Amino acid sequence: MILPQLMYKKAKTLEEAIQSFKKSDGKAFYLAGGTDIVPRLKLRLHRINALIDLKAVKELKGISVANEWLSIGANTTLFEIKNHPPVKEHFPAFFQSLDATSCETLQMRGTIGGNILQNTRCLFYNKSLEWRKAKGFCFKMGGESCNVVPNTKACFANYCSDNAPPLLSLSAEAILKGTNGERRIKLEEIFSGNSKEPFTILPGEILTRILIPLRKTKGAYEKMRVRDSIDYPLVNAAFTLENGRGKLSVGAVGACPILHTVDNMNENTLRDLMDRIYADVKPVANTILPASYRKKMARVLAKRVITNVLKEANA
Ligand SMILES: Cc1cc2nc3c(=O)[nH]c(=O)nc-3n(C[C@H](O)[C@H](O)[C@H](O)COP(=O)(O)OP(=O)(O)OC[C@H]3O[C@@H](n4cnc5c(N)ncnc54)[C@H](O)[C@@H]3O)c2cc1C
Repeated sequence: MILPQLMYKKAKTLEEAIQSFKKSDGKAFYLAGGTDIVPRLKLRLHRINALIDLKAVKELKGISVANEWLSIGANTTLFEIKNHPPVKEHFPAFFQSLDATSCETLQMRGTIGGNILQNTRCLFYNKSLEWRKAKGFCFKMGGESCNVVPNTKACFANYCSDNAPPLLSLSAEAILKGTNGERRIKLEEIFSGNSKEPFTILPGEILTRILIPLRKTKGAYEKMRVRDSIDYPLVNAAFTLENGRGKLSVGAVGACPILHTVDNMNENTLRDLMDRIYADVKPVANTILPASYRKKMARVLAKRVITNVLKEANA
């Protein structure tokens, strides 16, 4: 499959990138590693005029420490982050998710910004134009209803980032820059909760940095996938424990990861949390594994990450 005809613009600064977006009447995408957006364009999932390449923008690169936060440029590759020693030392849940993201070849190309802003996926949506035309466009494509849950004016596509759940469990924040200046938000605020338009990021805004409080944490990450060599998560769970407070995030089911905070982890709070996860996670039949199995496995993975971390903390 080949790319549609597009204007390609390589930006050298953030301002240049934002100006190029403005000139495209909003019909442009930013390009980081391209591992999510290029296949999407080849499948004709979007109609745009231009790709604005961010790879040469220096402000988006590198990892540094700023006021007790680890600051990661949005264009830093997953591989560079995984191999940055403080990440393994301080944030085990994040290190494990980076290591479990697809394969090392993809980690060397894919960036953390692109990983967080990857679009939602569905077995009935990430298909060629011909396939989708034959089936009839779904709600996410501008059709009347969802092709998985008929007669619903809603989208149930899954947000499949490996790295967003651990980042949420680590209380990460994001810096965004656009035509109206810069803003800093909690990472969870980047999600709209709507699978059709999954992000609250404004047109033309650029995710510039991810910030994580630089403290030693205990944590774990688990992912269910069919082929360990490359696949996206079909359900995932991340847990971080810090000063007795646990943060659990469960993802790859629905529009965004679910986040729960528990101040006092004991047998009763653990049981309540598992019940809440089971109730919150509402998969539909839009992946290669049955929805009922993914629902059960959300609870299994959540329990596994929590018990592993508590065992280590009490050792
Ligand atoms: C075979 C295959 C397997 C994969 N497996 C996994 C997996 O196991 N786990 C997983 O999490 N992902 C997986 N992915 C998805 C994807 O490759 C990764 O998430 C990757 O990290 C995306 O980063 P990128 O830099 O390539 O993003 P791009 O494709 O460049 O961008 C993705 C989106 O983010 C936007 N964007 C990128 N950077 C910015 C920015 N700074 N500001 C504003 N917008 C921005 C782009 O416009 C685009 O819409 C897989 C992809 C493929 C093709």
